[in-house]
Amino acid sequence: MFKDYLLTYKCQACKKTSKLNYFNVSRSDMENELGTNFQVSCEHCAIRKSYHVNDITAIPNRNYTFLIILAILGLLVAAIMFLLGKGVISTFSIGIPIAIYLIYRNNTEKAITRFNRNVLPRDRDYQPKNKKIL
Ligand SMILES: [Zn+2]
Repeated sequence: MFKDYLLTYKCQACKKTSKLNYFNVSRSDMENELGTNFQVSCEHCAIRKSYHVNDITAIPNRNYTFLIILAILGLLVAAIMFLLGKGVISTFSIGIPIAIYLIYRNNTEKAITRFNRNVLPRDRDYQPKNKKIL
């Protein structure tokens, strides 16, 4: 549903950072599904090259859908509380979405660190039978 982090790699041809159309997986999952080395086309220059799973880096997804949904929800609750004359509680209704967002962001950062620390051995070249093609 929400793409917590993006999987990126540096294109060997144009050197630009390109995104993988692949989400919320670990490097081990990628190796299981795509193989230790897999081919992918750069989103900038469209040149298809082979990459090792370790070449993939997780970065935060700068997509604020989740934050916006929380903010709208907070404002809605605050408005209802305000209409009901419970002004004090409306401060909480803003505070709770902020707290949820901070927890979410913290978890995302942990997931990114986990992904990037999971370095797989270079000497292995596993290729699954039903290799998924990106
Ligand atoms: Zn490229």
